[in-house]
Amino acid sequence: MEQTKVLIIGSGPAGYTAAIYASRAALSPVLYEGLEPGGQLTTTTLVENYPGFADGVDANSLMDQMKRQAVRLGADVRAGAIVSIDLGSRPFRAVDERGREIEAQTVIIATGATARYLGLPSERKFRGLGVSACATCDGFFYRGKDVAVVGGGDSACEEATYLAGLCRKVYMIVRRDVFRASKAMQERVFSTPNIEILWNCNTQEVLGDASGVTGARLLRKDGEVFDIKIDGFFLGIGHHPNAELFSQWVQTDENGYIITEGKTSATCVPGVFAAGDVQDPRYRQAVTAAASGCRAALDAEKFLLENR
Ligand code: NDP
Repeated sequence: MEQTKVLIIGSGPAGYTAAIYASRAALSPVLYEGLEPGGQLTTTTLVENYPGFADGVDANSLMDQMKRQAVRLGADVRAGAIVSIDLGSRPFRAVDERGREIEAQTVIIATGATARYLGLPSERKFRGLGVSACATCDGFFYRGKDVAVVGGGDSACEEATYLAGLCRKVYMIVRRDVFRASKAMQERVFSTPNIEILWNCNTQEVLGDASGVTGARLLRKDGEVFDIKIDGFFLGIGHHPNAELFSQWVQTDENGYIITEGKTSATCVPGVFAAGDVQDPRYRQAVTAAASGCRAALDAEKFLLENR
């Protein structure tokens, strides 16, 4: 059976950064790209907040550069997903989608998280053309414009207050007549004058034309259907960490995020580390994911030294 010192699962900024560091430590990592090569970032367009690019960088080319950097330094980057894994004892055993088995001394889980969408065909049609699940990534493009945020949790409130600092007006589309968000976050929303909350509303359709999103059609609980004019439609209805494959072995929180120890990337299984959005419900940025991938590679290297 094939053997590796470091098996990295996932190909977002966390996975590739782990591969870059593990390669430079002469650990010859094997990285499986997974179902969405390049990760969540590839669903956006221009990235303006990743340091080192004065004029911003196209998200796909940023991920391509990370991949090429990892490959140049010696990482074995493979298309395809790991479909089963046994983290019950070391060496760990994984099987890829072609049935190939691989034994690993350490595993770095960097499978990311997936933003939740409403599932409307019109929402899909305008993804990247006004529909976004990341205010921090895309809010800047809507300066001085009107936008809407769907959701009533902490994420939606945080997105709305962030966008309110950039946009002329922010509608919050909330399906009940109360927020789920913490009191502190609610207070921030209530005290922001350019946020208008549309209680008891669900989105029927995202409206748009060739230029992108132009509005949204909403249905209020009392039966009234009405349109709002907006240029951006932001989802804040939560994320889903891609941790199912591992949740039998590693500890997860109540939302399914992998729990890591203190400031390290260590999970409760010695030799198994987690990096990026799969263990981070809070920051979820490309740069924080990359940093945690670095930590995971350094933690794996130290673990291998101590457990020869
Ligand atoms: P939550 O699950 O807390 O909230 C999701 C929100 O979206 C709810 O208001 C929910 O409505 C609404 N929603 C879900 N599905 C739909 C739908 N199909 N249509 C319309 N609305 C929908 O997710 P968050 O991402 O906000 O938070 C996740 C976790 O992360 C929480 O524990 C939160 O506290 C934490 N967090 C903390 C932050 C911080 O401390 N700075 C920032 C962001 C998140 P309903 O209430 O009716 O179910």
